[in-house]
Amino acid sequence: MCKKVLGKARKTKPTLPSFEQPIILSRDQHPVSRKHISHNALKVLYRLNKGGYDAYLVGGGVRDILLGLEPKDFDIATNATPEQIKALFRNCRLIGRRFRLAHIVFGREIIEVATFRGHHDNDEDKNCQKTSKQNEDGMLLRDNIYGSIEEDAERRDFTINALYYSAKDFKVYDFANGVADVYAKQIRLIGDPETRYREDPVRMLRAIRFATKLDMTIHADTEAPIKSLAPLMANIPPARLFEEFLKLFMSGKAVENYHMLRDYSLFQYFFPAVDQQLDQKTQVYLADFILLAMKNTDHRVNNDQRVTPAFLFAAMLWYPMQEQIQRLNSETQLTPQDAFFGALSEIMSEQQRSIAIPKRFQAVMKDIWILQEKLVRRDGKRAFKALEHPKFRAGYDFLLLRAEIESASNTNNEQPSELQELAKWWGDFQESNTDTQQVMVKSIVQTKSSPRRTTRKRRKPRVKTSSSEV
Ligand code: ATP
Ligand code: MG
Repeated sequence: MCKKVLGKARKTKPTLPSFEQPIILSRDQHPVSRKHISHNALKVLYRLNKGGYDAYLVGGGVRDILLGLEPKDFDIATNATPEQIKALFRNCRLIGRRFRLAHIVFGREIIEVATFRGHHDNDEDKNCQKTSKQNEDGMLLRDNIYGSIEEDAERRDFTINALYYSAKDFKVYDFANGVADVYAKQIRLIGDPETRYREDPVRMLRAIRFATKLDMTIHADTEAPIKSLAPLMANIPPARLFEEFLKLFMSGKAVENYHMLRDYSLFQYFFPAVDQQLDQKTQVYLADFILLAMKNTDHRVNNDQRVTPAFLFAAMLWYPMQEQIQRLNSETQLTPQDAFFGALSEIMSEQQRSIAIPKRFQAVMKDIWILQEKLVRRDGKRAFKALEHPKFRAGYDFLLLRAEIESASNTNNEQPSELQELAKWWGDFQESNTDTQQVMVKSIVQTKSSPRRTTRKRRKPRVKTSSSEV
């Protein structure tokens, strides 16, 4: 039906739209209707219209409905300024410095309302650092110049995102031939790709994310400069990169996004230590291990199971951690605990320079790693204590992943590896009653994986770790 509609629209307007003359699809020429839009988003559209302002559903909301998908969220664009929006809604808060916008909060649902953006070509605007600011690479540090709907459309990233639906006349306004690209399944930047990536390098990540999420291809012109402009990613603040990490890796498409990020030399800006080890192939299991962790995450997300980014972070950094521990041990003789905390501090502070991982997730990563050791030492009351650990489940799942990867290279299938045995032991232990558990604990023989140290190592001064780093 939609393709037909597009044909119709093309017939009446055979030429490409210009930003001044968009393709306008009337109510019967597109599938977007109010039943697809959340009540809260409609409320916001109506209230803005009633207040005398123009307001449109824009971006993913329109695009996804055209594709027959359920939009993740609803974004609205208007000619009302943030202050005027705030005056209309009690449940409104203004956010953002680089890009000021209004959040209208309805319990768990937030409707994002942005004022139409304009061009940064006026000297007066350029000189006003509050509204417009650019660094020497062309990156927009402030994007708060307001404009018309036509200018707003030109300032959006991809053609498929420059689609506007009006709840007043029920028409879709297509400023950049986005409807055609939606059906041709093409991700195409608006304007000159290099300039647009320079203004905001995150658009490179967004191109990848939409390509995998919507099963589309990146148009050749949009794709061409990505690899050479990848170094611009170094300008992205770690807090923004954390948000992008979540969108890329926690939305059910982690594996596909990971491959594309690696192909375009973008992965290194998320995990420099991992990227380096992957290139140098210093760790045999690393590539398979992180892939398995991502597959696992995708599977959970796609089956509506709970996921925490901490698990994926712990998996990503596990081998860099092991390498760092070994390096510390080879330089100085440390107790295992000191080597662990020393490596933890170094790995985390390096990682934080790329992605600002919130402290609550850092704490879980640390727990998962510490549990790997705790799960080995099961004698006495230790196994029971480990079972009560609040992050036991995550630690155990992590152990399963390690066992799966490390035993995959075990050619002698008849004999399970130590890790496999350990994972099985814990699987059985959880399912046993207390009496059996006691027997299991008693029958533990000291294996190579749980060595009892016979000679005490001299304690070296502890490597300082600050609580903000672990
Ligand atoms: P989804 O919400 O499904 O991830 P979306 O297209 O709605 O996809 P948002 O991040 O919600 O993406 O942004 C809403 C809209 O804002 C986009 O559709 C696009 O028009 C515009 N936009 C977002 N980020 C940028 C950017 N970095 N540069 C230009 N326009 C952007
Ligand atoms: Mg959106």
